[in-house]
Amino acid sequence: MTAPYSLLILPGDGIGPEVMAEVTKVIDWFQTNRGMSFTVSHDDVGGAAYDRYGKPLADETMAKAQQVDAVLLGAVGGPKYDDLDFSLKPERGLLRLRKEMDLFANLRPAQCFDALADFSSLKRDVVAGLDILIVRELTSGVYFGEPRGIHADDNNPDNEGGRVGINTQRYTSGEIRRVARSAFELAKRRGNKVCSMEKANVMESGILWREEVQWVHDNEYPEVELSHMYADNGAMQLVRNPRQFDVIVTDNLFGDVLSDAAAMLTGSLGMLPSASLGAPMANGRPKALYEPVHGSAPDIAGQGKANPIACILSFAMALRYSFDQGDAAAELERAVEQVLADGVRTADLMGPEGGTPVSTSDMGDRIIAA
Ligand code: ATP
Ligand code: MG
Repeated sequence: MTAPYSLLILPGDGIGPEVMAEVTKVIDWFQTNRGMSFTVSHDDVGGAAYDRYGKPLADETMAKAQQVDAVLLGAVGGPKYDDLDFSLKPERGLLRLRKEMDLFANLRPAQCFDALADFSSLKRDVVAGLDILIVRELTSGVYFGEPRGIHADDNNPDNEGGRVGINTQRYTSGEIRRVARSAFELAKRRGNKVCSMEKANVMESGILWREEVQWVHDNEYPEVELSHMYADNGAMQLVRNPRQFDVIVTDNLFGDVLSDAAAMLTGSLGMLPSASLGAPMANGRPKALYEPVHGSAPDIAGQGKANPIACILSFAMALRYSFDQGDAAAELERAVEQVLADGVRTADLMGPEGGTPVSTSDMGDRIIAA
């Protein structure tokens, strides 16, 4: 019996509760069959929290999130909440969680299951067996840097239109070192290889990025293989030969773009998990929030059509990165692979050849059986 892991489950809105119900089955299975012990609490976020507490994230929920080993979130938002004030919108609940937990490393795996290789925007022989992890810095960089704004460009008579839009790319060495550490730690549990991407050829922050990642490598993780690549070349390499990578670490802006591009190497939105990690807590585990990349999908909510795999794979990431249960994570991923290989498909995974889709709950049951 392992020490109990504490989990806070926030199903949220739309298909969130439907896909989370399948994760709950998976958690129960690991407790019954693999001697793991989870202390699970449930609460609301997003529109569901607005309905219950009058705001998208209650203070008590926030406090719980700060204490648990991992938060598992479904999805937030929906047409019912479109007219709410900005500060009450469901998305604000998720943003508050990310901000107050200071989750600075966003993890987006791109893993290609063989049975779905034909869903990729690339050829099967380029993506078969693909398993890479993009680590994006999430709390700094050009999206947050000051000064910012749109101003009159008063002293520049040659500027047609007379305005200037300003954003500032700003990174501190500390911000770079902490996300670099996350990347090296993750690489140690995977292929032991990190590629850092920036534009050190044209950006000062890129030069600092390269130097600080190298510093963390040389001083703390010399055993992990490190390479550097300009982000534009990185984009090209990602679609030319993505299997050359294991962990990619990059800044907020480049990570935003590269992780969306990488997502399309693997196919459906219903398959993509994610994690956001912060600083290590007293027990050595990082603060962590796991969630599927997809949203609340109001168009299919309540119909039993949602694919639960993105949420189930998000839990696999929790097993691996919060609970150090890499073998259990791999076992869960193999079960998903097996079910897909058997041709079991939710509606979003139906190819042109057609067939009969299974329900959300059937997909969960098949994964458990596998
Ligand atoms: P958000 O703003 O929350 O990201 P969105 O509108 O951008 O939401 P989703 O809610 O993810 O995007 O939905 C986009 C499309 O993908 C919808 O047609 C939805 O039905 C489909 N979709 C999303 N997630 C799933 C899933 N798990 N299973 C099946 N279809 C899904
Ligand atoms: Mg979206």
